[in-house]
Amino acid sequence: MAKVIIFTGAGVSAESGISTFRDSGGLWEKYRIEDICMAGCLQTNREKTIEFYDKRRADIEHKKPNHAHRQIKAICDKYPNDIKLITQNVDDMFEKAGCVDLLHLHGFLREVVCPSCGFIADIGYTKLASYQEHCPKCHELLRPNIVFFGEPAPKYSDMHDFLTGCELLVIIGTSGNVIDIRMLCEYADRTILNNLEPSDAIDDTNIDKVLYQKASVAIDEIVQDIELFLN
Ligand code: NAD
Repeated sequence: MAKVIIFTGAGVSAESGISTFRDSGGLWEKYRIEDICMAGCLQTNREKTIEFYDKRRADIEHKKPNHAHRQIKAICDKYPNDIKLITQNVDDMFEKAGCVDLLHLHGFLREVVCPSCGFIADIGYTKLASYQEHCPKCHELLRPNIVFFGEPAPKYSDMHDFLTGCELLVIIGTSGNVIDIRMLCEYADRTILNNLEPSDAIDDTNIDKVLYQKASVAIDEIVQDIELFLN
């Protein structure tokens, strides 16, 4: 069981040029979240919903991991049994950095899934329709393998299992609006938080170390802290 959990959100990919929710820009601003990210959108608004994820998939094709992703990959390689990486992100920056064993809580942009039989395909950065609209196994309509607001998130139970053995929890780049940070911190003996700025959804007074700076800057200190903790 890993002693250290690194838990990341959209902020860790901000310096790779991928917009967070909060600092919405470009792609996000042209759509209303309730039209394309909520349970039921695929039934009521399939065309626009699929288009949105097609564009997001295309958007990450040439994006590159930043220093924070690379440092996290390096420290995970150094202590493979002691560190578990969990992300809310749906982008593939950690995969591009070489990580193979991370838990994506909210799905993965490059994948489409069959809601009926569970078939999953990595379609890279292409449009869903250029792959195929229907499941090759059971012919149901495929959908982006993304957890929409209001849908069950099956990986949360894995997250809780990993957190049960956690001693040090490192949180990077999340506003805490989707996952309750106080609940996560209750699992750990020691906690570190890195965001660009305080968030209304996070009470940071009970967090042991708080770094309000860019992840690419904070990460070197965080990696040192992890090493000290594990040695
Ligand atoms: P959020 O947008 O709600 O919050 C982003 C947080 O990152 C903020 O607290 C901000 O202070 C911090 N931040 C911004 N730039 C930073 C930087 N350079 N270094 C350190 N911190 C920085 O994101 P969230 O809490 O992850 O929740 C958003 C939801 O949307 C998640 O469920 C996620 O799946 C999804 N999402 C994913 C991506 C992605 O995959 N890259 C992008 C946008 C949204």
